Amino acid sequence: MALRGDIYRLFESVVGPENISDDPAVLRSYMYQPFGAKEGVWADISPAAVIMPSSTEEVVAIAKICNRYGIVFKAMSTGWGMHNLPGVEGAVSLDLRRMNRILEIDEKNMYAVVEPHVICMQLQVEAMKKGLNCHIIGAGSNTSVLASATSVVGYGPDGLSMGFSGRNLLGVEWVLPTGDVLKLGSLGADSGWFCGDGPGPSLRGIMRGWEGAWGGLGVFTKGAVKLFHWNGPTELEMKRTPPNYVLKEPLRFFKVSLFSFSTIEKLAEAALKLGEAEIGYFISRLSPSFVGLQLASGANYVATWNTGMLQQMLKYAFLFVIFANSEREFEYQQKLLAQILEETDGQTSPISETKEMQEQTSTAVIKVDAVVRSCFRTTGGFNTSFGSMDTVDLAMNQIKAGTELKDKYINKGVIMDDGGDNSATLAFDQGHLAYTEMLIMYDHHDRDSAEGACQYLAESNQACLDKKLGPPIFQISQIGKGKHGAFGPACFNYDSWLRKIKGEFDPNNTSDPTAYASPE
Ligand SMILES: Cc1cc2nc3c(=O)[nH]c(=O)nc-3n(C[C@H](O)[C@H](O)[C@H](O)COP(=O)(O)OP(=O)(O)OC[C@H]3O[C@@H](n4cnc5c(N)ncnc54)[C@H](O)[C@@H]3O)c2cc1C
Repeated sequence: MALRGDIYRLFESVVGPENISDDPAVLRSYMYQPFGAKEGVWADISPAAVIMPSSTEEVVAIAKICNRYGIVFKAMSTGWGMHNLPGVEGAVSLDLRRMNRILEIDEKNMYAVVEPHVICMQLQVEAMKKGLNCHIIGAGSNTSVLASATSVVGYGPDGLSMGFSGRNLLGVEWVLPTGDVLKLGSLGADSGWFCGDGPGPSLRGIMRGWEGAWGGLGVFTKGAVKLFHWNGPTELEMKRTPPNYVLKEPLRFFKVSLFSFSTIEKLAEAALKLGEAEIGYFISRLSPSFVGLQLASGANYVATWNTGMLQQMLKYAFLFVIFANSEREFEYQQKLLAQILEETDGQTSPISETKEMQEQTSTAVIKVDAVVRSCFRTTGGFNTSFGSMDTVDLAMNQIKAGTELKDKYINKGVIMDDGGDNSATLAFDQGHLAYTEMLIMYDHHDRDSAEGACQYLAESNQACLDKKLGPPIFQISQIGKGKHGAFGPACFNYDSWLRKIKGEFDPNNTSDPTAYASPE
């Protein structure tokens, strides 16, 4: 649905003619999206125009025009999923790529103030120069720091030491759906960016709750995020060329280990004990298939997989990384780790001691740069299921349920045979919280495969309800209209609160409600 000429010109007067487009070729480029639950890679709905504001003032002006003329808008930062595209006809996309500045790094108080299109790698490079580091979500260092902190999920395996994006958020500048600007936390009391919960209004729960509003509650234009101590060099020197590039020099007091356990229960016990011991920089339960996908090229992966070696050695395994501040601490952490492995019959995998594994994994762990090749390389299409954050035990039950269900679809030949259990499990908060995502790879250009993947996702959602495994992370946002229908009643009717919030903050329903909720 085309945008009326006079409204287009109003937007144009805000951002300038070079920063708005309704050219079909340009719009089409925004519709390409391999991370979606559907056949093909093109979104069904095109934005009516794409607008690229460069400042808070421009975002405010755009939101006000949208409210006046009944135009829906949808913000996108780095655009890593179908959920950043409008879900209604006639909406405009706000591509925030021009808002890409790191505004401040406060070394003493350990936080950075960023705009929406600052990516994790950009922030990490600058933070390391000051002996600091930032949390990077599992999707990789190519993603927006602010989008994860304010609007969508925020898990990553370095969460063991650097938390969860939503927790790391401090002061925030928020353009509400109406175009009014709200400043949260200490920023709201003109006291700087240092705190998310006051002095000044907190509203953290309303702004993002657990998972984020997925662009349904306006635009976050600036935010401060916590930074963490970095004990490595101020600049990382690399050797070789991507994707095989690795750190030139190994990091001091840094060790990557891959362990395997005889049963899933032993794996869970070890994860809990490691959490309680409060050691480690990075933890991720890696399935045999995921380890293979991280290490090898596509062809090598198939060859290695067919030997059966990965499946045999790594059935219940996890990757654990120690990064200590001193030799003494390094020894202490290794001692505790050895003790926990002894108590849980954990075995160090021979792969983990190889130079290749140490080099490649150190780089991947610090930069979080291996996800794209692991997820999209084999079949082109990728999606995920389960993923509710809960206890370590529930995460293990998600693995069991997901593996059983996936086997059915693998046997039908519609999704990739990755051994069924292709799950990533992470632990946070000293082992008190954990989650599992069960990944699937499929061919979205093949109708049977795409339909099979969609059926699997629907069935996995049902399994979450039937087996009480918690709401799935991404399916809720991807199902679209009516998405809360099944999960609302099962989870204290949370959706009725979302609708109330939406009604209060967005009376004209201007900020695209598709991935969030419409007012009651
Ligand atoms: C292969 C793969 C792996 C992934 N792994 C993870 C993972 O491990 N952990 C994780 O947390 N997520 C993961 N994701 C999901 C998700 O894509 C990321 O959370 C995302 O990258 C967040 O940053 P983005 O800038 O790309 O968000 P976008 O795709 O641009 O936006 C995400 C959502 O937030 C909204 N939004 C973005 N910026 C703003 C803003 N400034 N104001 C208001 N709303 C905004 C958008 O409307 C959209 O609904 C993964 C995705 C893929 C494809």
